[in-house]
Amino acid sequence: MVLPARRSSVPVRIGPVTVGGAAPVVVQSMTNTDTADVAATAAQVQALARAGSELVRVTVNEKEAAAAVPRIRERLDAAGVDVPLIGDFHFNGHKLLKEEPACAVALAKLRINPGNVGRGAKRDPQFAAMIEQACRHAKPVRIGVNWGSLDQDLLTRLMDENSARDQPWDAMEVVREAVVLSALESASRAEELGLAHDRIVLSAKVSGVQDLISIYRNLAARCDYPLHLGLTEAGMGSKGIVASSAAMAVLLQEGIGDTVRVSLTPDPGGDRTREVLVAQELLQTMGLRAFSPMVVACPGCGRTTSTYFQELAQQIQAQIQGRMPEWRRQHDGVEAMTVAVMGCVVNGPGESKHAHIGISLPGTGERPVAPVYEDGEKTVTLKGERIAEEFQALVERYVARRFPRRAAPP
Ligand code: SF4
Repeated sequence: MVLPARRSSVPVRIGPVTVGGAAPVVVQSMTNTDTADVAATAAQVQALARAGSELVRVTVNEKEAAAAVPRIRERLDAAGVDVPLIGDFHFNGHKLLKEEPACAVALAKLRINPGNVGRGAKRDPQFAAMIEQACRHAKPVRIGVNWGSLDQDLLTRLMDENSARDQPWDAMEVVREAVVLSALESASRAEELGLAHDRIVLSAKVSGVQDLISIYRNLAARCDYPLHLGLTEAGMGSKGIVASSAAMAVLLQEGIGDTVRVSLTPDPGGDRTREVLVAQELLQTMGLRAFSPMVVACPGCGRTTSTYFQELAQQIQAQIQGRMPEWRRQHDGVEAMTVAVMGCVVNGPGESKHAHIGISLPGTGERPVAPVYEDGEKTVTLKGERIAEEFQALVERYVARRFPRRAAPP
């Protein structure tokens, strides 16, 4: 597989996780519980971490939330969950960090939005106060710009400069430049205030796919800080997934992006961990990371009028999800396995040969047999009523044979 060359960036340590440099692209997510509710937030962080989130951000919006952060950390540590917590600060972060120093100690990184640190004369000293806290507690900072809360003083300055040009840019170009410049100028200022170069991560989120691509290309060309990618306000359901994937895939393909978040609006009462799975699937389908075996299934067509192969694909997916925790503990490299479940003879054998293990089911009117391929070779032909169970048993045996057992921990 041909993989894109990664843009070179300075590695930043966030607790036990490295972002940037030669490190793989890191998946992160954010809670939507009230941070002051220690039990609910700790439970959701744990669920996100167990789903595969390697960094989890929590909002720190008031004194009670800041006071809750160390208690959340304690609960996670007691449960054996070492995922780093990132504190998301807006408006009052300078005060909260000063009044609740244990909050800064418990966090692995601070996220500062330069558009929301304070207006007018308050902006610079409040930004400086937050950077001072980051330096005091030796914490990295993500300077996270969002065009929904863009620094209005900076935007006004750039608009004024633009109107003085012989050939002014269009207004959106000025806004995009303001987003990039807000991140870069804030990072320079943080360094002037004493924050080390290798303690800074940047993000510049917008909600339009083309705007995001343009902004991150620009940012990547102008600095070597690690970049956190995400389409803000991506939306609900398939729209959110498609928009996030479209934008981030283009950038990742160009080697841009050191950490990702897929910002999905969950259905009411929906599962927050979905955003983690989507981010993992994005990275895995691009060949950048491997998290869990992938089922390659054809969409079906008029050659498969029964739902049999859809049911089998679903069963295989469920088997993999159910068995994965144990497989991951026991077998090195199993997360990179591909399993093909194909509906007929047209593409079935070919696709099955490309997978680690694959089955080509009989299409309508074909002989009722299902050839199985392992590592490109036909190994057996299944027939009868128990094809699904027999194929699942073959997958189980394949994992045991093909992926070496992990050495027992000392
Ligand atoms: S593999 Fe067969 S059943 Fe599946 S989409 Fe192609 S032609 Fe249709």
